[in-house]
Amino acid sequence: MSEQKVCACHEQAKELKADDYPYKCPTIPGRVHVQCKKCHERIALDFGSLTKEDAEKALRDVALTPGECPGYHVEFSMWTYWQCAKALEVAFAN
Ligand SMILES: [Zn+2]
Ligand SMILES: [Zn+2]
Repeated sequence: MSEQKVCACHEQAKELKADDYPYKCPTIPGRVHVQCKKCHERIALDFGSLTKEDAEKALRDVALTPGECPGYHVEFSMWTYWQCAKALEVAFAN
């Protein structure tokens, strides 16, 4: 799993509001875009072909590490700011 701020779909996503996040990337399979509620950085979460269980584990590792947000604020958890629970739902919704 990796985080990347820039994605090709952002070109079409300029009109997105904070309420539209998290959303499934229309260009890259297995990718979900979230926006940090604290610093408003946009983050791409790549789950690739991970199972939901593994994706959740990987996401917890990242989100629970202080300073992992590209906005560089140090928090105990980005789980809430990134709306991780919702991001997982969006990623694995069928
Ligand atoms: Zn994208
Ligand atoms: Zn942030």
